[in-house]
Amino acid sequence: MSKPVSDTDLSGTGISAETGATPFKERRIIIVGGGCSGISAAKLLAERRVYRVTVLEAGDRLGGKAETYWHDGTAHDLATCYLAWGYGTAFRWLREKGMRVGRIQRPVVLLKGDDRRIVSLSDYASGVGIASKMRALPQAVRYIFLWFRFAIAEANNSTSARAAVDLAMPFSDWCRLKRLPVIERVGARALVTAGYGYLEALPTLHCLRWLKPSILFAGLATQVYEVVGGIGNLWNALALDLDVRLNHEVARIETMPDGPVVTTRCGKAFACDDVIIAVPLSQSAKLLGPDVGLAQFAASMRSHKYATLLFRTDRPIFASHHESVGLEKHLGSETLGKTLAIRRTAAKTPHAACNESDNDRIYVSYHLQGTHSLDDLESYLREDIKWLGGHVEAVLLRRSFDYMQTYDQPAIRANIATRIQDIQGRQGIWLSTASSSFEAIENIIDRNEEIVAEMAVRYGRFRTLAAIRLRLLRLSRLMKMVSFLPRLVLAGTNRSREPAGSRENSVARNQ
Ligand SMILES: Cc1cc2nc3c(=O)[nH]c(=O)nc-3n(C[C@H](O)[C@H](O)[C@H](O)COP(=O)(O)OP(=O)(O)OC[C@H]3O[C@@H](n4cnc5c(N)ncnc54)[C@H](O)[C@@H]3O)c2cc1C
Repeated sequence: MSKPVSDTDLSGTGISAETGATPFKERRIIIVGGGCSGISAAKLLAERRVYRVTVLEAGDRLGGKAETYWHDGTAHDLATCYLAWGYGTAFRWLREKGMRVGRIQRPVVLLKGDDRRIVSLSDYASGVGIASKMRALPQAVRYIFLWFRFAIAEANNSTSARAAVDLAMPFSDWCRLKRLPVIERVGARALVTAGYGYLEALPTLHCLRWLKPSILFAGLATQVYEVVGGIGNLWNALALDLDVRLNHEVARIETMPDGPVVTTRCGKAFACDDVIIAVPLSQSAKLLGPDVGLAQFAASMRSHKYATLLFRTDRPIFASHHESVGLEKHLGSETLGKTLAIRRTAAKTPHAACNESDNDRIYVSYHLQGTHSLDDLESYLREDIKWLGGHVEAVLLRRSFDYMQTYDQPAIRANIATRIQDIQGRQGIWLSTASSSFEAIENIIDRNEEIVAEMAVRYGRFRTLAAIRLRLLRLSRLMKMVSFLPRLVLAGTNRSREPAGSRENSVARNQ
């Protein structure tokens, strides 16, 4: 492996090209972690014909938090389950692997207050009727404008000190400051039940990273999909074409003059040109020595716990498949840890769809764990199901996840997001994962696309072209956020329509 001998600045990209280093396509790359972050990074590199790539996964299965659990012949996605508008690359890979998706068929509904009324997300956010929707429209427009301003600054890694102060604020304060109560209500349903945290504590930076216009409208227009057979299959299918080693827990990463060396717990050492770390940032810092400077970033991360219980009730609680119901009485932080949402998990396989008798009584519940034990959560769940008129017959599985690492407020005010970008690629170390983007598949894949494009700028043969490509990628990311608008109109006129150009079939049509 050759060392860099000189740097050429590629103005406008913020990246230095390293001449004399191993060329991009010949680089030996180790990826630590076989979750969606690690597998998608390897897949994106393979698509750019970079083949000397090995993924090391500590466990005996792939997918990390995107785990599909099989019970009685039926697939249940325990955590990650939804893909929405904007998840372009994930949809492309699903098509490539011949996998199908099913659309959430009914509007996302919510039980409102103690009278247990079911309302759609859009009615919950803006109020019922055309007049209230018209009143909400200017807020949506203002939000999109503010979001673009944020996204452009992030894409250019140029967030100002003043903007950083706003981004450190809890999202509920920010919404009030910007007079966006409708957005705050969408956030309460979408961000809180997804386990990202309570709006009173969640920094605006993280909320804006996720609540893109495409996600906002995907929720309101119910353009949300689940993978037939479970999301876990996607990572397994992608891994078939990649060099992936299970049961290879990485113990340390050393940065040597000739490139990093990755050593596993069982003592195998892999010398390479680059390491892509695809495990949460707090864990990454422990693998690296102090010279890479990750410890200061890891120290400002806050991690949350999210718990999931798979359970069977004595009778169907909700009428149709593919429903996700947020319980409004638990959306405020004063009820920290209680049941936030319940999702019906059946119909993921043709078998499940036919076998209504049992599978229409199996649900997944979601809880922000806080300080509560799994026993506490189970008892809250039992109360909630009783409140809904049913009875929990059996809890089939309990699982809790380390989830949603956020920066603390002082770190955001000190512009940590910009500083973390500045160390990307230093000494051959690249940070992928949710911690450097956001805890959702689309954000992770987008970040990996940028990492791969940045590698091409640094080490590729046609660096100016690679730099143009990187700029176009960033631009297309912004355009993607509005490209759904025509589809929004179509969705309004034909609610059963799928994303334009997709070959996926809805589960309903295949039943
Ligand atoms: C309850 C829940 C619901 C969610 N719902 C959605 C959703 O609907 N849609 C969506 O887009 N996203 C969703 N997400 C988010 C999504 O699941 C995560 O953001 C994503 O899985 C994170 O992927 P990752 O690869 O960064 O990390 P992980 O999934 O944590 O994977 C990290 C991998 O690295 C391995 N590893 C750790 N340490 C080492 C080591 N030292 N050496 C080697 N390997 C190591 C781990 O075993 C693991 O396999 C959800 C998450 C949760 C928890």
